[in-house]
Amino acid sequence: MAYDYDLYVIGAGSGGVRASRIAAGHGARVGICEDFRVGGTCVIRGCVPKKLLVYGSKFAHDFEDAAGFGWTVPAPTHSWTTLRDNVNKEVDRLNAVYLRLLDGAGVKLHMGRGRLMDRHTIQVGEQTITAEKILVATGGRPVIPPIPGHELAITSNEAFHLADLPKRITIVGAGYIAVEFAGIFRGLGSKVDLVLRRDRVLRGFDEECRTFVHEALAESGIRLRTEMEIARIVAKGAGKNDSGPYEIHTPGGGMFETDLVMYATGRAANTAGIGLEKAGVQLNKAGAIAVDEWSKTTADNIWAVGDVTDRINLTPVAIMEGHCFADTEFGNKPRKPDHRDVPSAVFCQPEMANVGLTEEEAKLRLGTLRVYTAAFRPMKYTVSGRHQRTFMKMIVEAATDRVVGIHMVGDDAAELIQGLAVAVKAGATKAQFDATVGIHPTAGEEFVTMRTARADPAPERAAAE
Ligand code: FAD
Ligand code: NDP
Repeated sequence: MAYDYDLYVIGAGSGGVRASRIAAGHGARVGICEDFRVGGTCVIRGCVPKKLLVYGSKFAHDFEDAAGFGWTVPAPTHSWTTLRDNVNKEVDRLNAVYLRLLDGAGVKLHMGRGRLMDRHTIQVGEQTITAEKILVATGGRPVIPPIPGHELAITSNEAFHLADLPKRITIVGAGYIAVEFAGIFRGLGSKVDLVLRRDRVLRGFDEECRTFVHEALAESGIRLRTEMEIARIVAKGAGKNDSGPYEIHTPGGGMFETDLVMYATGRAANTAGIGLEKAGVQLNKAGAIAVDEWSKTTADNIWAVGDVTDRINLTPVAIMEGHCFADTEFGNKPRKPDHRDVPSAVFCQPEMANVGLTEEEAKLRLGTLRVYTAAFRPMKYTVSGRHQRTFMKMIVEAATDRVVGIHMVGDDAAELIQGLAVAVKAGATKAQFDATVGIHPTAGEEFVTMRTARADPAPERAAAE
């Protein structure tokens, strides 16, 4: 049978756009549909606008630092609407770039929601389209627990479009989005309450780093309401997206007021209402599309990449998965995505980044380790007087001398770790780090001058145990 397309992609985000462009480059006839905006979460309401807001909020600290270096800075004022509009203008520009990229690659775009009708048929609006191979790259969406009043809360989706900067904001959650937005709003001048159900932020990251970030967030003026559940939210004012006030009630009868509530309690894969069952595409236990190591679903001609598969939910990973799929299926270059040693960063303030194993994971998997740590006040703040410290950690497998994990909390952690990730991925040993000459004076030189392994367990932890 002759199909309309060799490949049809549902969802024009990071994974879908990369797969479609690469497949088209290999000579395939490719179509793609998008029901919101081309570019997907990362470009439209994720990584890009988020990082720009982080840049915007960081100026608050820079103005303070300047004084110690002799600058007199008049009391700075900030316009949320200017920042918001400039960020959204940049998002519009990138959206247009993505549209041009698809067009330039010869990928046919259909704006509209795609639904599978059977293994080879996709319905987009009124159009019925057939394709030999199909890629599902529909991403994910924020989830809010259904407590009474949850509809009054915003998610990160709405945070980029607020009419005004809230004077007080309550952010619920302790993962990537919660801590990043806590830093953004705090820097811009909001009073921030971070409500978390456990004792510390960023579960799953290296324990020492989590503690370091948790304490730094508190030091920056964010109120961390730990081990707190929310029973209900009550509006005292106009409602969603307007400044409240809202009452936040806890199960024990406690209550506090805030002007805006934002939930950042995780994301779920976009699998509903897209006809997966009609095509024989099955979900895993977590509700994401089940795929094998080639990103193939349970249907023979259908693949899935990115957040909808809930493997590692990061843009570069979705891109890698999409690229590998396109090379394998259309480029005669079979390659599987490699999910080992994927570096990542949390753009909280101070920022945290890592590659490889946490100390806890390394202990379980590898046994004896040598762990090197450094905590210090960065040179810049010795003069500016800012109370912010940097923490660095390197985990070495004792038997092989291989560096299996590097973690950092501090300025430019993401930029630094990106470079070091190459070394970790290449299997570098501690001896090779030691043989590398540092760049002085930098924070990064610490990573090549760490000489003495920490006693195990760390003295401060041993005392606490
Ligand atoms: P998406 O980019 O979400 O694309 C899916 C697309 O499919 C969307 O455009 C959607 O509208 C469309 N779609 C859905 N259903 C249909 C349908 N039925 N028909 C047609 N179209 C459909 N990752 C990082 O690496 N670094 C960061 O700093 C970072 N920051 C983030 C900040 C926030 C606030 C959020 C929410 C996420 C962030 N992420 C970050 C994660 C990153 O955005 C995602 O991992 C990435 O976008 C996943 O790409 P994807 O292609 O799987 O899905
Ligand atoms: P995360 O999975 O990172 O964090 C979810 C948080 O919500 C956790 O702290 C979790 O707590 C908490 N939580 C879950 N359910 C509840 C509940 N019912 N009540 C209270 N708290 C709850 O999700 P995010 O939404 O922050 O981000 C989604 C994903 O997007 C990330 O995992 C990441 O993959 C990606 N992302 C990446 C970024 C980057 O690369 N810089 C930035 C932003 C997002 P607990 O720990 O107790 O389970």
